Amino acid sequence: MNETGRLIVISGPSGVGKSTVVNRAIEGRTDVCFSTSVTTRAPRPGEVDGREYFFIDRTRFHEMVERDELLEYAEYVSNGYGTPRAFVEQKLKEGMNVLLDIEVQGARQVRAAMPEAVMIFIAPPSLEVLEQRLRSRGTDTEEAVASRLERARQEFHEAEFYDYLIVNEDLDNAAHALDAIIEAAHWRFSDRAAWLKKL
Ligand code: ADP
Ligand code: 5GP
Repeated sequence: MNETGRLIVISGPSGVGKSTVVNRAIEGRTDVCFSTSVTTRAPRPGEVDGREYFFIDRTRFHEMVERDELLEYAEYVSNGYGTPRAFVEQKLKEGMNVLLDIEVQGARQVRAAMPEAVMIFIAPPSLEVLEQRLRSRGTDTEEAVASRLERARQEFHEAEFYDYLIVNEDLDNAAHALDAIIEAAHWRFSDRAAWLKKL
C-alpha cells in the first residue's frame, strides 16, 4: 500500500457520464473512495443529502470558503460547488485513493495545490450525444440543458492541463480505461521510492 493515497480528479461536462463510468470502474475496488461535495443547487429527484452532495445554502457555502474548509470551490451554472478539505486529507493520510468529480475551474485549483494529483477529463463522442444524454437524464429544465451545453463547450477549451482524456462512447471501454489509469497511478515510481529504501 502507498504511504498516502492518491488524489484522482475526474472532470467532464455535465451529462457526459462521469458518475456512470466511475461507478462501473470502481466496482469491487476497495482502495478508492468518493469525496462528497457541497453544493448550493437544489437536489434532483432521487438525490439524497450526504450521498450525491451535501446540500447547503449560500450562507453556509460562504462560511466554508471564509474558514478555508474547502480544498477547492467554483461557481457552475449559478450555483456554488466545493470539496470539503477535512475528509480528503484524512482519507489520503489513511492511504485511500480519493476521487473528486469536479469541474474545470476547481480542477485547476487542485492542480496548483497538489501537482501530483491524477487528472482525467471525460469527453463525449460528440456534442449531439452529450445533448441526448443530458435530456435522457430528464432532470434538467430546457434552460439548464442549454447552459450546461454552453459550459461544456467552454470547458473543452480550458482542459489542456489534464493528464488523461477518456472518450465515453462505449461504457465498458471508458470504465476499463479509468480503472487502468487508477491502477497505473497506484504503481507510480515517484510515490513508491520509499519502498526500495526499506529493502
Ligand atoms: P454525469 O455524472 O457526467 O453528469 P451521468 O453519469 O449522470 O453523467 O450520465 C448521464 C446520462 O448518460 C445517464 O442517463 C447515463 O445512463 C447515460 N450514459 C452514461 N454513459 C453512457 C454511455 N457510454 N453510453 C450511453 N449512455 C450513457
Ligand atoms: P451537477 O449539478 O450536474 O451535479 O454538477 C455540475 C458540475 O459541478 C459537474 O461538472 C461536477 O463535476 C461539478 N462539481 C461537483 N462537485 C464539485 C465540487 O466540489 N467542486 C467543483 N469545482 N465542481 C464540482
